[in-house]
Amino acid sequence: MTTGSNQDIKAVVKSLKANRFDTVEFVEDADTAVRTVLDMIPPEAKVGMGGSMTIRQTGLRDELIKRGNIQMFRPGQVSFEEFLRLPSDIFLTSSNAVTLDGKLVNIDATGNRVAQMVFGPQKVIMVIGQNKIVCDVDEAIKRVKYVIAPHHGMTMGIQAPCAIDGRCTDCKSPGRICNITTIIEKKPRMTEYAIVLVGQDLGLGWDPDWPAERKERIVSAYRAEWEKERATFHPPRP
Ligand code: SF4
Repeated sequence: MTTGSNQDIKAVVKSLKANRFDTVEFVEDADTAVRTVLDMIPPEAKVGMGGSMTIRQTGLRDELIKRGNIQMFRPGQVSFEEFLRLPSDIFLTSSNAVTLDGKLVNIDATGNRVAQMVFGPQKVIMVIGQNKIVCDVDEAIKRVKYVIAPHHGMTMGIQAPCAIDGRCTDCKSPGRICNITTIIEKKPRMTEYAIVLVGQDLGLGWDPDWPAERKERIVSAYRAEWEKERATFHPPRP
């Protein structure tokens, strides 16, 4: 089990650098993460974003909307055809998990988010909270299936078994949100990468053995962001 301690963060920073990600930075808190990321984005750059609650929680999305950088969200919020016509210069996202040896693990329903993490935009910027650190790929996948997907599904009212009772049955449901798993082991060849690790819990993700108060804080922060988005969310077709 990891706790996202300073020692864990130092190990991840070292591993990500060894895995050739171009820029890897550690910052103490979300405010510093926002300033760090804004400095990486030229005023004229078109920034694409998936449904990252981490990016919303930090306030980065709002700052980029004010600056006029954000130019698309995700399928369901614009038509699929429009989505494909809107390539971004920079893709801004988090990662479902990052392992101590520097692998980025993500599971998607549609694939729009993971596709842009590996090819398309010239640059990917990831903001990753300390709570997303896991020991290895096995733990990362379990974390998504048994913690992130059920809570995400329950909050958003997705039609999959885990959204009803919180248990993953490796379902075959049309509402399944675990359709594509990616493991980025080393920096993708043609994409510039910046990864900002934050010494604060951000987005969904925890170890079941963590103290209940910590897990509750993570869930409430996530739900608070979701409530702001609820009115504009249109689930993509299965
Ligand atoms: S496989 Fe199905 S039941 Fe399991 S977490 Fe994913 S959507 Fe939920």
